[in-house]
Amino acid sequence: MNSLMLNTDGVQIPQLGYGVWQVPAEEAEQAVATAFKTGYRHVDTAAAYGNEEGVGRAVRGSGLPRAKIFVTTKLGNADHIRAAAAFDDCLARLGLDYVDLFLIHWPMPQHGKYVQAWRALEQLYRDGRVRAIGTSNFTVATLTRLMDETDITPAINQIELHPYLQQRELRAFHEANGILTEAWSPLGQGRGLLDDPALRVLSDKYGKTPAQIVLRWHLQLGNVVIPKSVTPTRIAENIDVFDFILDAEDIVAIGALNKGLRLGPDPETFNMM
Ligand code: NAD
Repeated sequence: MNSLMLNTDGVQIPQLGYGVWQVPAEEAEQAVATAFKTGYRHVDTAAAYGNEEGVGRAVRGSGLPRAKIFVTTKLGNADHIRAAAAFDDCLARLGLDYVDLFLIHWPMPQHGKYVQAWRALEQLYRDGRVRAIGTSNFTVATLTRLMDETDITPAINQIELHPYLQQRELRAFHEANGILTEAWSPLGQGRGLLDDPALRVLSDKYGKTPAQIVLRWHLQLGNVVIPKSVTPTRIAENIDVFDFILDAEDIVAIGALNKGLRLGPDPETFNMM
């Protein structure tokens, strides 16, 4: 499994992980256990997903050394003003004594508390309770304010990113500031995108599925990806992307699919608590 270096003291993140949004609480342990058996070593959950308990049971029951698994969770939107206590709640639900990466899930700029939340995350990092801290759904504007007003640059920004929403400006901003780009809904939620004729052509050319072509595109751009599936064959399919390389012209062809199509909420206005 390929890993990428975060901007924090030598911490590495497996470039491909397993996302568990919308995995029901009672299925999460089994799904994550399947992912670990298939070779995944990185799992992405959040307080808001309501399945941290199951994820934690799978981590603890995996038989793998804790240091071999990369666990990300995220601060709930209602908890910007009590981030340290909310982090303790996450650890208690996970049954772990640290997480590898803790993210602010949404900036909610109208609410205006993300700088305060970030200062609490900085303290958790300094206290060694989390190996790296980052953001999710931050824009150039919210990242700029965060970096202007606080000490630690986020290690990663997890954003909606797939061939129909390529986020070129934000990715360039990340690159210029040493922030890794992590793609959520990397497969475009499996809707529409995977039937795109251009991806079908590439699927035939490489003998790989459209989902594998899209994941390979992310990897070659340097994105961290966290595809989700609860179907064991797809869980295996989504990690079987390290035995081929897309030609430069095919990276360009996928680049041409961008249409600025957002599937999830707009981070500038989303403020659901
Ligand atoms: P995704 O792009 O990973 O798509 C998942 C869906 O695609 C599955 O439910 C299934 O229907 C389909 N699928 C999966 N593998 C397939 C395959 N091989 N072939 C055909 N169809 C396949 O979408 P997602 O779940 O929205 O995003 C992945 C992860 O990103 C989430 O689980 C979560 O961890 C994270 N996420 C984060 C945020 C955020 O705000 N930070 C928001 C959404 C998702």
